[in-house]
This record gives sequence, C-alpha cells and structure tokens, in this order.
Amino acid sequence: MSNVMTVLGPIDTARMGFTLVHEHILVTSAGLKDTYPPIPRQAAIDEGIHRLKEAKAEGISTIVDLTTMDLGRDVRVIEAVSRASGVNVICATGTWLEIPRAFRMADPDDIARLYVREMREGIEGTGIRAGVIKVANDVGGVTEPGEIILRAAARAQKATGKPIITHTWAPERVGDQQIRIFEGEGIDLNRVCVGHSNDTTDFGYMTGLLKKGVWIGFDRYPSHRPDVPDWKARTETLKKLMDAGWMRRLLLSHDDPMTMLITSKALFAERIKRNPDHVCFIKRRVLPYLKDLGAADAELQQLVVENPRRFFEGGK
Ligand SMILES: [Zn+2]
Repeated sequence: MSNVMTVLGPIDTARMGFTLVHEHILVTSAGLKDTYPPIPRQAAIDEGIHRLKEAKAEGISTIVDLTTMDLGRDVRVIEAVSRASGVNVICATGTWLEIPRAFRMADPDDIARLYVREMREGIEGTGIRAGVIKVANDVGGVTEPGEIILRAAARAQKATGKPIITHTWAPERVGDQQIRIFEGEGIDLNRVCVGHSNDTTDFGYMTGLLKKGVWIGFDRYPSHRPDVPDWKARTETLKKLMDAGWMRRLLLSHDDPMTMLITSKALFAERIKRNPDHVCFIKRRVLPYLKDLGAADAELQQLVVENPRRFFEGGK
C-alpha cells in the first residue's frame, strides 16, 4: 500500500482512479485575495464544484491542481471544491512563471526549504499539505531566475521524495534544458514529468526526453493557441508514442483553468465556448479517438489510471 497526499489528507494510491495530472481549479494572482478581500471566492468555489461534479459523474476521481503561489493558489478554495465534489485533489508547491522578485537573487536552498515546508507542515498555516512540486520555464528557455527555481525544486524533491511536474514550451525544446539542470542536481529523473510536451509533434524531442528516464505530459488539451498542434494531431502523436513502446511513461491532462478571478466574463465565456467539454475533453474526445486509432481499452486504462498511480507511487 502506498499513500498520496491530497488536500483532504493522505489516501491510498489505489483509490486515485482516473487521474488528470495538470489542472487548475482557480487561477489568479498572488496576494489578490488578501489585499482585496471583497474579491468573491464563492463564485470560484461554485464553478469549481460544478466542473468537478460533472467530471466525477463521468468517472474522473482525482485531479492534480498545479496552481502555485505566484498563480494565486488558494488552498481553501481547492479544499472546499474537493470536499463538495468528492474529487480527490493533490495540490502543489513550487513556482510558475511569475517568479517572486525576492526569489530572483535567492539561494536555491532557501527556496527549497519553503517548498519542503509546504509539503511537510502545510500551506499558509492551514495544515493542507502539497503532494507535488511544480516548476515552469517558457518561451526563450531557462532564464537565470528560472534556473534558481529549477534547482530549488530539485533540492525539495531530493529532501521529500515528492515528484516534480514541469511547465515547458515544447516548440523550443525547453524540456531538454530542464533535464540538464535536474541531471546536474543529481535527482532521480524517474520522479520528473516534463509537462506540456504535446505543444509539439516533434517525435524525436519526446523520445529523447523519455530515453533520459523522465515521464512526459500530454497535459494540454484541446489546444490553447492556433500556432500549436490541434487536439487530433496531439492524439495521433500520443498513439505513435504508445506504439513505440512508451505507453507506461505518458500522463494526460487539460491545463484549462476552471475559474479565473477578475478575468473578464466575456473572455472567460469565450474559453468555455472554445471547449465546452472542459475537464471532460479527454474522456469524451481524446480516449474515443485513441480507440478509433486502434488503442485497446486496457491501454486507455493504463494511460489515465495506472500511469498516474505509478507516477505518484515512485515511478518504475
Ligand atoms: Zn498549468
């Protein structure tokens, strides 16, 4: 028996079931909820519950919420949504792209200590503990501050044994740069998932990463901008990797925030219109398409149930 930490406490990994490894219940900015307390949280909670109840009814039982402090993480919102929807939520420590100014000249060890504390003791005095480490580098590759947080994430991984899921910009092969830094830090690459790897169809890039021993995330669905592969091209690449023997190292998710505080209602409605299936898109569209392409039911089960369970149990 192996446990994974959720916002409502540890659960047996056997109970994870259908798991999406990179989602966001609420995205906003650090400090907004404390500085401007009239900003309503209840609407965000209600929308999150609505979305996750819908997911639960279709068999999705666990999500990993990779919202970090600089994305305005609100663990009380996550907790309330998990409790009311019945979906397990694993929340994250780490840093996304809005690296706090104070981190930019910090020693990675000092930042790692902050991450470790969120995994061992809890987040912002709530006792809610993070179960995964998130780190992000994007267009232009790993910057100097980006390198500091990668090293901090690696050191927190070594201290706790918790996995890392990254955000990358695959068209520029940013995953390769992340791996070089993780290798330098001497972490077990089996504990790393290079996320957003499906923003490209570059098979050589993906297999190069996989040969290093990492997992890769097909964790952007359907497609967030016009200059990247559409969902069908993503799924065809996924099937190609499965057929090439990499099926046990692939993780699926959407990365499409369920709510965004202060974002214009019109803009948000546009997002929903673009993807009305939302957090059920993979279940309703991607898995059936994989079947059309020849995948067996047991293989689909492997992708969405067994792979995330093994990833959180320690890989292999
Ligand atoms: Zn994300």
